[in-house]
Amino acid sequence: TNQTQIGLMSHEELLSEHERQTASYAQLKTEKLTLDLTRGKPSPEQLDLSAALLTLPGDGDFRDGNGTDTRNYGGLTGLPELRAIFGELLGIPVENLLAGNNASLEIMHDNVVFALLHGTPDSPRPWAQEEKVKFLCPAPGYDRHFGITETYGIEMIPVPMRPDGPDVGVISDLVANDPQIKGLWAVPNYSNPTGAVYSEEVTRALASMPAAAPDFRLFWDNAYAVHPVIGETAPSLDILGMAAEAGHPNRPLVFASTSKITFAGAGVSFFGSSAANLAWYQKFLGKKSIGPDKLNQLRHLRFFGDADGVRAHMEKHREILAPKFALVLKILEDRLGASKVASWTEPKGGYFISLDVVEGTAKRVIALAKDAGIALTAAGSAFPYGIDPEDKNIRLAPSFPSMDDLDKSMNGVATCVLLAATESRLGLPKS
Ligand code: PMP
Repeated sequence: TNQTQIGLMSHEELLSEHERQTASYAQLKTEKLTLDLTRGKPSPEQLDLSAALLTLPGDGDFRDGNGTDTRNYGGLTGLPELRAIFGELLGIPVENLLAGNNASLEIMHDNVVFALLHGTPDSPRPWAQEEKVKFLCPAPGYDRHFGITETYGIEMIPVPMRPDGPDVGVISDLVANDPQIKGLWAVPNYSNPTGAVYSEEVTRALASMPAAAPDFRLFWDNAYAVHPVIGETAPSLDILGMAAEAGHPNRPLVFASTSKITFAGAGVSFFGSSAANLAWYQKFLGKKSIGPDKLNQLRHLRFFGDADGVRAHMEKHREILAPKFALVLKILEDRLGASKVASWTEPKGGYFISLDVVEGTAKRVIALAKDAGIALTAAGSAFPYGIDPEDKNIRLAPSFPSMDDLDKSMNGVATCVLLAATESRLGLPKS
């Protein structure tokens, strides 16, 4: 392995380093790997933690605490007892939290579409009738957020991401002066992909800053609220309370789900907001559905029991995930630490590690890895329109592969990063 900073090497040293890395890469290719580090999916072992859901609520159990028959139509707001559990975890009063079906992404999508078609309670007109609608996009961020806004022709403006959240200086300036900016995508806790946790200062600034648009919205996606990997769980800050206190009660739209708690395809989603926003949302939701899958909600209620049940369950996830995160970070340090050709985040929770390689080489690294049988998330995917202006960011998702596969694939990735870095320093064509 390389022990010198590649940036400090003489031309001669670089040439021999390039030869060494070319040989390692050729060796890697002979291993004929088929490994995948792309999506943040729970591993089968994690899904097994919720195996009891496959038999719950069990024969004859179909009524919630209010006596509601969960097998039948109705109950648009979702089961109150389950909402109370997640209200406690998310810091949202139960009356401000709805429980829905299996995908919070669907609720985010619907909020955008309903605003485009009808306008929000604070909109002078439907967003679609505006000359232009823009969203601020802290980047790197979650590709599926950007996919929604891109699909509906909403202009996306990237905003730099920091360890304590997005750059609020840049954001507050833009939002105060441009009435076309109607929204901001945010993953406040253990952000996808950097693992950043928004600080109280950043959160309060976003909740309270003046906005030129009366209907400016924070799309507050707390997908990883109870997903620590190291140390204490970061608190879910009271974004609804902060915004209300600042005179912007309808600004935050809070989303969460059990996708990375129970089953990623068959969990329960949540939507928290002001009474006015919830009434507005349900007016249109009630046209597309007679009610959510309450039986699945009851299953989840029985499975967890209470908020402590969720916390205890997340400790089991941590036991599986923490060694995987540690392994990825160790391989990055061992293989890339000394050569100074990369930097990476060290998340305390969530599902991802964000790797920055030598500027202009992320595409090359991903192509090299692909040819060696290692699938990495497409270059640029964590940026609006899929464009990473510096071509340097790679999102790593350690959860799904086994420890053994993770070891092989991360060592392979390190080889690709080093080869691409030496090519770049030598000014070689990216063959
Ligand atoms: N938000 C974020 C930030 C995510 O990373 C994910 C899943 N990768 C989702 C939302 C998807 O959530 P759901 O399954 O509830 O639609």
